[in-house]
Amino acid sequence: MVQINVSQQLKASIGSTRNYEMSGIVDIDGSNKTVQGVVRLMRTDHGILVKGTLDTESELTCSRCLSLFNYPLTLYIEEEYFPTTDMVSGAPLPLPEEPDCFTIDEHNILDLTEAIRQYALLTVPMKPLCHQDCAGLCPTCGINLNQASCDCPPEPADPRWSELSKLVLTDTKVSVKEQEGTN
Ligand SMILES: [Zn+2]
Ligand SMILES: [Zn+2]
Repeated sequence: MVQINVSQQLKASIGSTRNYEMSGIVDIDGSNKTVQGVVRLMRTDHGILVKGTLDTESELTCSRCLSLFNYPLTLYIEEEYFPTTDMVSGAPLPLPEEPDCFTIDEHNILDLTEAIRQYALLTVPMKPLCHQDCAGLCPTCGINLNQASCDCPPEPADPRWSELSKLVLTDTKVSVKEQEGTN
């Protein structure tokens, strides 16, 4: 579970801590992933500070070969959670001004699901690779070069490059003619 009942912790004095071993399933990027680790809960004057390291993974698309692969993620979480209800009176409590602050519900449940999801999104690399030396796709026939090879000529497929090589050739001819003229 990534939901912790913190009713005892809310009764504890400010500064007191408790370690919580966590193992649960969270929907990360649309697929359920295991989340494991230890978090430390500390009672603050207004709520509970959660600090810890959690291991999970995310299913990503390789930016070179476009295959799906599981990428391991380590999340360093540090967030303060605020109770919405007074433990003793049951009256609603005012929340801090900041928008989107994390809350503890009226049953004293501190739910880490949303924080884990947000931290996972921040940890995912911009251009993920299935492995460091991924061979990518053949630019001509599109075959996945990690799994097979093809007989495509090794010419660059990008038309901008072939235009560039023509230009270089023409320039060379011109300069040769000019040199002949001066002789
Ligand atoms: Zn790849
Ligand atoms: Zn090819």
